[in-house]
Amino acid sequence: MYRENAWKHYDEAGKAQVNAFADGYKAFLDGAKTEREAAARAEEICRAAGFADMDALIASGAALKPGDRVYRKWMNKSFMAFVIGSDDIEKGMRILGAHIDSPRLDVKQNPLFEDDGLAYLDTHYYGGIKKYQWTALPLALHGVIVKKDGTTVEAAIGEAPGDPALCITDLLPHLAQDQMAKTEALNLLVGSAPKAGGEKDAVKAAVLEILRRDYGVEEEDFISAELEAVPAGCARDAGLDRSMILAYGHDDRVCAYPSLRAVADFRGTPDATLCAVLADKEEIGSMGASGMNSHFFENTVAELCALLGREKEISVRRALQNSRMLSSDVSAGYDPGYAGVFEKNNAAMLNLGVCFNKYTGSRGKSGSSDANAEFMARVRAVMDDAGVCWQTAELGKVDAGGGGTIAWLCAKYAMNVIDCGVAVLSMHAPWEIIAKADLWEAYKGYRAFLEKA
Ligand code: MN
Ligand code: MN
Repeated sequence: MYRENAWKHYDEAGKAQVNAFADGYKAFLDGAKTEREAAARAEEICRAAGFADMDALIASGAALKPGDRVYRKWMNKSFMAFVIGSDDIEKGMRILGAHIDSPRLDVKQNPLFEDDGLAYLDTHYYGGIKKYQWTALPLALHGVIVKKDGTTVEAAIGEAPGDPALCITDLLPHLAQDQMAKTEALNLLVGSAPKAGGEKDAVKAAVLEILRRDYGVEEEDFISAELEAVPAGCARDAGLDRSMILAYGHDDRVCAYPSLRAVADFRGTPDATLCAVLADKEEIGSMGASGMNSHFFENTVAELCALLGREKEISVRRALQNSRMLSSDVSAGYDPGYAGVFEKNNAAMLNLGVCFNKYTGSRGKSGSSDANAEFMARVRAVMDDAGVCWQTAELGKVDAGGGGTIAWLCAKYAMNVIDCGVAVLSMHAPWEIIAKADLWEAYKGYRAFLEKA
């Protein structure tokens, strides 16, 4: 099946639109290196677009009506936005889903130690990473430290000009004959200068003094902290033609951002209620209270039904079952340098537009959420009618590997849901690449889905 490069469809004004949307995305990325930061940026976007905090409405016992716009942040790590439609909620919603957590290194609960005069923070990797990729590059530390009195210290060390960078060291090639890949220890180097006085572990003591002075935290406070080491630096244009973006965390903010924007940019009153859900914990199997496997989304839909005067449980079940959803997550972009793991006719190509995966999974479709042909047909028609560039793909060739997303967790409600998303090169590496045209076509596709699917 022939698919044309999306850039061929753009005139000068169209190219300017693609680049402007990409600039907004890059700005979002720079402020959203963790799930908490992404949820906070999503809240800012929604507040600016006239959305009200659903928890305040629940507390005040207010009612919702068609055209109302509400959002809900869950545990500061997941986020949902809704535009209330004129149709009965029991007829179902149009949902755009994506995740806002990304692979990284989490600082452990007892992390700080000194070894032969150097001080380190020990980490535990989060999500699927190639450990060797995270050495010898500048890392920043983002997150929160919650103290016993409930106060929260927010940290983002290593981003501002003049900030110190953190790093995991690697072995020099001269001595690396026996080294396969550095996998044993992912320790962030955080100090080498001892505290005056020269007692044991004086370097560690000096680091603790800095933490006390600059952040007001003690070593014990690491126990109730969530600190994530992520690549330091900004998202930037990639390629001499600036047609791509190099950034940390495209997986899956390249789907989360256009999904949220599609709902936030909707004006007026839709027929069906519109929803964007941005989930945490996808990279570790969607477990935990802020992951899609928890009931936070179902509970929020129940709250929404109640605010609409639909208090019976059957209303919630119908609202979910009758919904249609694009579960958006990144696809493995076809890479000519690694052609052997792809099947070219069914691979996601850069610049061919938003990518639909009728099914995911691995081997004999194990772990897949296979979308209905009837629903796939409806989505095809919506995309074609709206002039969206789109393609279909599988994640690599059969038996080369595979993967899953949050689609199966929404399919549990018996709703129609299909995987879709944006092709990424170097997925799960500290710096990933996407094509600006694919980001734009995803946004166009999401808007068309919200209006017509
Ligand atoms: Mn993903
Ligand atoms: Mn991933």
